[in-house]
Amino acid sequence: MSDKEAFVKKRILTAVLLLAAFLTSYGQVPAKPPAMKLEDVQKALVLIEKPEPAPAEWKAGFDLLTPANVLAMLSFASSDWMEGRETGAKGFLMAADYAISLFKMWGLKPGGDMGPASFRFQDGQVTQTPGERTFFQAYSLREVEDIKGSLGLEVRKGDTIKKRLFRSGVDFGWYSSGTMDVTAPVVFIGYGIQESKIGWDELKGLNLKGKIVLVLSEAPGKDDPKSPFQAKELKDKYLPTSPAVYTPGSPARYNKLTELAKLGPAAILVVSNAGQDVDTFKNLAVEKGRPVSTEQPFPKIYSRRLSLLGAPPEEYETAGSVTISVTREIADAILEGAGTTIDELKKKIETIRKPASAELPGTRLTLQAEAKTTLVKACNVVAILEGSDPKLKDEYLVIGAHYDGLGASDGNVWNGADDNASGSIGVLAIAQAMVMNPKKPKRSVVFCLWSGEEEGLFGSRFYVAHPLFPLAKTVGCINFDMISRAYDDTTSQRPLRKYKIPGSEELLKKIRPAFLAGAQTLQGGEFADWQRRLNAFVGLDLILDERAQGTSSAGSDHNPFDKAKIPYIYYDAASTTDYHKVTDSVEKVAGDLYAKIIRLGYLTACAVADK
Ligand SMILES: [Zn+2]
Repeated sequence: MSDKEAFVKKRILTAVLLLAAFLTSYGQVPAKPPAMKLEDVQKALVLIEKPEPAPAEWKAGFDLLTPANVLAMLSFASSDWMEGRETGAKGFLMAADYAISLFKMWGLKPGGDMGPASFRFQDGQVTQTPGERTFFQAYSLREVEDIKGSLGLEVRKGDTIKKRLFRSGVDFGWYSSGTMDVTAPVVFIGYGIQESKIGWDELKGLNLKGKIVLVLSEAPGKDDPKSPFQAKELKDKYLPTSPAVYTPGSPARYNKLTELAKLGPAAILVVSNAGQDVDTFKNLAVEKGRPVSTEQPFPKIYSRRLSLLGAPPEEYETAGSVTISVTREIADAILEGAGTTIDELKKKIETIRKPASAELPGTRLTLQAEAKTTLVKACNVVAILEGSDPKLKDEYLVIGAHYDGLGASDGNVWNGADDNASGSIGVLAIAQAMVMNPKKPKRSVVFCLWSGEEEGLFGSRFYVAHPLFPLAKTVGCINFDMISRAYDDTTSQRPLRKYKIPGSEELLKKIRPAFLAGAQTLQGGEFADWQRRLNAFVGLDLILDERAQGTSSAGSDHNPFDKAKIPYIYYDAASTTDYHKVTDSVEKVAGDLYAKIIRLGYLTACAVADK
């Protein structure tokens, strides 16, 4: 995820959606909201110094949600036995069986697909026994696995021909959607921008059809206040201040790569405008030729690309299939025949404020990819606690979290304790608390453990496309994603930055980083309301991020529900450097904070299910 405000940090490091994040830097973002007022800060920060005792009617369930109890379940769900809970793999099914055994023990009913009917022939008659509900919701994914991809470069200079070969997964990240074999000449198009209003045309006189295009991301003059691209409209279009806010379907979204793709190039190679590359495959940011982070093992699932069958595709899944992000090393090798480098060309464009587009005669690239396509069988785990009110039991509250993780490979296990065994155990713990509490909720509560989140929110998207309980009768969705890690004095500054305005100092001083959590929710909705009332019993320092319908972050499973106009709340806590690494393990979890977030989720669920 990138920044806290956008709640997309995990997406950015997720290779499958890396392209999406990349496209975002070109996306037009809405105009900057008006400056924040003190009352907005007061509304957003829900702070409690000393919690009150929990309401008597929900207390028995509440008291079960102790750090010890939730950590006991979390330890097993994030142990090596679960093999990183990869979607469609054995580890996920083992974790699913663990959850189902708990659901059964606590007396919840299966909420998944109907099992097959059975038939018997007896006494000269065929009798049919209808199938029973299972705990699974099955769906299928198409998996495209890159076996190999390469970028072969041939630069002719005078009589000499220099050849170089770059391999995907070693030298650059390429998540090809299929087989490809193309050889074509190369055109450098600068930033690839045509803006007639300011007389800027980097494509003038160039025919891109069938060519391989080398383009810089964003726009020229990012750090130059005098650049014409600093004017508001163009800045929003090409240089958004809030990077990587990827909102599929946002009507204002503009993507220059999509526009370039319409001109028929064989491929578009994008090199970062920033002075550093993000080496997508190695998951390393390279600054001044030196890796910023240390080498990390690379999860196997990043070398495959999944798409969901039976639900509408997201825009990022259909756009940009010929777009490949390359490093400066590759860009410079391509430009070698022209005797220049990408940074020299960038500087030139920005200094003389004129396009420097040019065909690169004598330079040819060969892009080859061979991909294997297979079908992956995946499933969500769904249980239901039937409502106690004869009428209201036909209405539903969904409580969900993604149970899938990055899997295991080459002797490494991505335990994903925080991401997102923590949220999944939150769902299980609330199920237990609701069952054990003497007073039962009036509405039915559907407990969902999603799969496929890391690779495209597949499980929750499939549920919304094929709801097991009518969406029209679904009153809300509670989502937990990464709720177990605490902020410290330094890291808490980031989510709080935007609230630092004159007059807010006293309020901000009260915040205890160890109890800081975030909740994104529908603007002015009842979930927001309940947080202000129920946090009094829990004692979190909560940042409440209220958003207009349809504008939730696309980084987790509440998003498909928001798109379906179902009110939602999405809890999270600190994102740390262990995010998506093999070091995301249970001993780093902050039990007190973790239990508090689950308690707030529990009280919220009780309130909404019983309103
Ligand atoms: Zn997650």
